[in-house]
Amino acid sequence: AFRALPDPAAHVFETSQGDPLGALLTRATPGDIATAALSAEGPLAGLPIGIKDNLCTRDLPTTAASRILEGYRSPFDATVVERLRAAGALIVAKTNLDEFAMGSTGQHSAFKPTLHPLSPTHSPGGSSSGSAAAVAAGWLPAALGSDTGGSLRQPAATCGLVGFKPTYGRVSRHGLIAFASSLDHIGWLTRSVADAALLFDVLAGPDPRDPSALRDAPLRASAQPTPRIPALRLGLLPALIEDTPIHPAISRAFSALIEGLRSAGATLPDLSPAHLELAGPAYTAISSAEAASNLARYEGLRFGQRASGPSGAPSTVEALATHSRSALLGAEVQRRLLLGHSLLSGQTTLAHAQNARAHIRKNLDEALTHVDALLTPTTPDTAPRRDAPDDPEHHRDRFTLPANLAGLPAISLPLGHDADGLPFGLQLIGRRGHDAHLLAIARALE
Ligand code: GLN
Repeated sequence: AFRALPDPAAHVFETSQGDPLGALLTRATPGDIATAALSAEGPLAGLPIGIKDNLCTRDLPTTAASRILEGYRSPFDATVVERLRAAGALIVAKTNLDEFAMGSTGQHSAFKPTLHPLSPTHSPGGSSSGSAAAVAAGWLPAALGSDTGGSLRQPAATCGLVGFKPTYGRVSRHGLIAFASSLDHIGWLTRSVADAALLFDVLAGPDPRDPSALRDAPLRASAQPTPRIPALRLGLLPALIEDTPIHPAISRAFSALIEGLRSAGATLPDLSPAHLELAGPAYTAISSAEAASNLARYEGLRFGQRASGPSGAPSTVEALATHSRSALLGAEVQRRLLLGHSLLSGQTTLAHAQNARAHIRKNLDEALTHVDALLTPTTPDTAPRRDAPDDPEHHRDRFTLPANLAGLPAISLPLGHDADGLPFGLQLIGRRGHDAHLLAIARALE
């Protein structure tokens, strides 16, 4: 479980001094943390935790790393933040991200790029870049993030951490600044599966303020027995993997793991759920269309900052909104909104994408009736260089997207390192609603 820190506030402040990684957007003051620590009671009492800055907090600003929300302060805490505080955790910092969680590198923050703790020329992965960098650097034992197409699992893999995304609806999204509502999940980064399970037990459960939240009470993850390796049935997805160029160190470590599990008595059948190759295009279309709809509210009138005009005030309300959005939203966000709006004004592409998504969901659920979980590498490569070109077709997200489209629980565990010492991960995708069971399987493989 979480190792107790003698003085959490001092530890975070001393170790993250000056924030050389660009991981933190705001920090609570040592005085505020010390005051909260005095009355902290519960299963996470005194635990310092970082919160991705697209989750609303009452006491610290919430910006989604966008100029359009600069200085915004939420009048309420996200449900997950409220539950953390009730369990005694200390909210010590808001962490950096790609603007509105659109990206996989942490380089698309409007405020500053995030650096990999092991190599300043590399990205820690993203979009939960600051959460991953801060936990990997040892500043924090855990941090919350969001995962729309892989934003927790992917940086977990490239930083050598555990990254968990629960079943869609298992954790309330109330207070998460939406990117693509049907794909957005809140989850967390930790250094062990046991820690991920402790957070699950505090954070999962029904919430009347999130209409998509599941209504039943979840099983407790930390109470699940760890399964024995010979009892495990884990499905492999050779078609998905053979289709993708994979870093040789990742291929080798993945094959060695499979061999090791087989010789320890586990059953690992090859499965071939159809249409996984459509996950990338389906994700691109659905996430952009939902983003266009969700971000329509930031027009600088009712929501968001208003940009001051270069030459006098714009003449119409529409011109005022266009001006604020053009000036205050980053290029990557604007690219996705343009794509989303054009998809929403057609119909066919989006309908094809929804259809592909329905097939992927059904086929993955079916595959998971034969096995306890599916096993893939988390990413095809280790951390990208910070100056690497963008990946608009989501090649780096290939293995993580299907679980978002299907709403299935998924976790990334450390698997190994390349010759430069950069980490990579192993992904497990579990059965719908079987989050506690997935965490128990992950513990057996850790
Ligand atoms: N990398 C993906 C994207 O850019 C996923 C991001 C996420 O999960 N928030 O959309």
